[in-house]
Amino acid sequence: MILGVIEYEQSTMTELSLQMVTFGRDLAEKSGDEFVGLIIGASDNAPLIGELGRYGVAKVITAAHENLKDYAPVAWANTISQVIDQTQAKMVMAPGSDQGNEVMAHLAARSDLPMATNCAAVSADDLSRITRLRWGSSLMEEAILTGDCKLITIAPFVVEAAEGASHAEPAEESFEPTLSDQDIQVRLIRKEPDETEGITLKNASVVVGGGRGVGSPEAYSVLEELAKLLGGAVGCSRVATNNGWRPHSDQVGLTGTRISPELYIACGISGAIQHLVGCKGAGKIMVINKDPEAAFFGKADYGVIGDLHEVLPAIIEELKAQ
Ligand code: FAD
Repeated sequence: MILGVIEYEQSTMTELSLQMVTFGRDLAEKSGDEFVGLIIGASDNAPLIGELGRYGVAKVITAAHENLKDYAPVAWANTISQVIDQTQAKMVMAPGSDQGNEVMAHLAARSDLPMATNCAAVSADDLSRITRLRWGSSLMEEAILTGDCKLITIAPFVVEAAEGASHAEPAEESFEPTLSDQDIQVRLIRKEPDETEGITLKNASVVVGGGRGVGSPEAYSVLEELAKLLGGAVGCSRVATNNGWRPHSDQVGLTGTRISPELYIACGISGAIQHLVGCKGAGKIMVINKDPEAAFFGKADYGVIGDLHEVLPAIIEELKAQ
């Protein structure tokens, strides 16, 4: 059995969770294993189970306990460990998100099981052989995980989320873990939404990103205006975050958010590998940079060589005129 730890927000599976389920379901089909979804601590399991059914998952385990009501990584890890003991799962996978990596690291440490993060492939003939992305995806590492159960997280955007061929309602099995207050030493106290009118960096169909070339926090107002006109969100490079021009929640990249808009408009950003990792899920990329040698042009579908302070107002004017 391959177990997939489901990540959700307000009873909806996250994009990375849908990708992980697609990855796990397809792997299990090829390896002849069963893929089982594990939902931990959800206040309402029904919508998540329905979603898993659409993604071709035939069985779901739902774990509930007083100490799982809020996200608590140690309690989640302890719960998964108990589910492994009961099911003898060969592999447990989670999305390669902050949460997924955190829970799996706790699980690996407490259960002494081998773990690999950021996996891009697993051999269907031998689940211990994995390929993972390293150095901001510039290196593919092949590794062998030795242990009865292998723990992995799936690198974001290595597969596209796709519904399953069958849409049957999955069989549900409830599980009540044994947990104590020790398991909630680390827990979620408060969640601060990084949303602007419901559009976030993660769900925006258009992202307008700005880097050092924007020059000041005030100058982001023109990016904000363009993003608003296009119904999108504003992102930034790490230089902008480091300079205190934008909050970290706006940062795109290896140590920021991985985005997958239909269009990413990158303004005054050079295209360092650590930034590119964060926007490689974008459908189309448009680069505005005054340096024709900027590396980002090599990844661009559309490129404008020019000063963003002139190009952006011109685009805005044109859009307003339409
Ligand atoms: P620069 O590289 O300085 O580029 C500025 C660009 O703006 C230049 O190409 C310039 O030609 C152009 N420009 C200047 N003025 C104008 C103008 N008026 N009009 C148009 N173009 C103009 N970076 C991230 O972004 N996200 C990450 O998550 C991230 N994680 C990292 C993790 C690690 C471990 C490390 C080591 C680095 C990380 N970085 C990350 C930093 C990354 O390596 C780069 O330093 C950073 O992305 C550069 O930001 P930038 O493109 O804004 O600045």
